[in-house]
Parts: sequence; structure tokens; C-alpha cells
Amino acid sequence: MDARARRSKIWENFTQVESEGEVKLQCNHCMKVIGCYPNKNGTVSLWRHIKMCSKRNLQD
Ligand SMILES: [Zn+2]
Repeated sequence: MDARARRSKIWENFTQVESEGEVKLQCNHCMKVIGCYPNKNGTVSLWRHIKMCSKRNLQD
């Protein structure tokens, strides 16, 4: 598994935003903010969102 390739895929789908001093990630498709910075385990919820994101599915 290429962790870097996987991670760059995250950045195709999410934008890093700062809110109230916290780093969060915003979905590029539905603009939903996921309150989770990707750390060791944090990307799981991001991938789950990408799979579920209806706006993204429409684009595909
Ligand atoms: Zn989304």
C-alpha cells in the first residue's frame, strides 16, 4: 500500500481549513466539514465520507 498516493487522493477530495484554531477538512464536493485532521487513523472517516458523498457520486 502506497501511503503517499493514498494521502494525495485525500487532497483531491478535501481541503484543509482552519476553524476556531482547529485544523479541519472540508469536502470539495458537498462542502461538509469533517472535524478530523488526517493522522494515523483519521483518514478512515474521510474515506468513509468520500464513499458516501452523494455530490461526489453525481460528479462521477
Ligand atoms: Zn462530501
